[in-house]
Amino acid sequence: MFANERECCLIQEPHLPDYHIHTPFCGHAGGEMEQYVAAAVSSGMPEMGFADHLPLFHIDDPTLAMCHADLPVYVERVLALQEANPGFPIRLGIEADYIVQHLDDVARLLALYPFDYVYGSVHFIGEWGIDQSRFKYEFERRDINDVYRLYFEHVMAAARTGLFDVMTHLDVVKKYGHRPTRDLSELYHEVGATLAKSNVAIELNSSGLRKPVEEIYPGLELLEIMHEHRVPITFGSDSHKPAQVGQDFDLLLRHARAAGYKDFVGFAGRQRIPRPLP
Ligand SMILES: [Zn+2]
Ligand SMILES: [Zn+2]
Repeated sequence: MFANERECCLIQEPHLPDYHIHTPFCGHAGGEMEQYVAAAVSSGMPEMGFADHLPLFHIDDPTLAMCHADLPVYVERVLALQEANPGFPIRLGIEADYIVQHLDDVARLLALYPFDYVYGSVHFIGEWGIDQSRFKYEFERRDINDVYRLYFEHVMAAARTGLFDVMTHLDVVKKYGHRPTRDLSELYHEVGATLAKSNVAIELNSSGLRKPVEEIYPGLELLEIMHEHRVPITFGSDSHKPAQVGQDFDLLLRHARAAGYKDFVGFAGRQRIPRPLP
């Protein structure tokens, strides 16, 4: 199948950092933080980053995000793991929801800790948790093209806040397989221009491959447009189990190349570190 052993190994282990790793603090991930680190180290990736769900303000549900009392503990645990693994960079990231009524609250929390990067997510359109299966019926009640437009308007508004370094799972609205019936390339160009102007990167996220849509976030058309606008990329598995760390990164690398990317970015102290793709 492969021309030689080396090519096979290159394809299986692209040695890209996984910046989207959850922890049991969020209430819906398994394993121990040490197990996520061990999985990352043994995969041969050069570094990793935890990015667990920042506490929410608009909803009180311990299965969606870490509770407020756990945030300092989460930070302490990541810093302790950094100390325990001196040869292996472990970044302190966080995944924060874009909720327009709580931008000040989010900003206040983010300022308290030495995050290396902040991932921004749109999981909610108003009260609607768009990636939660219990609210899937909402897709049937709305015009799908309107849903896409509204969703990406939230993404652009999130980018403009300046709170986030990277927008994660950029087209998570497709999670259950609902597709727009109109050409949205004009909207996607608007998104690309907005992200570029706001200095916000995007993430290639392999978790979509494990979801009903069975596709990487973002899809190729959208990613090509992001590349046209020179929006930088990071890589993430969105692991909620240690076994998912670095999952399908060979496919992410191929996807990035197919869209024209030649490099990606890492982060330290909220500064981008540009790197060539392997
Ligand atoms: Zn999660
Ligand atoms: Zn998410």
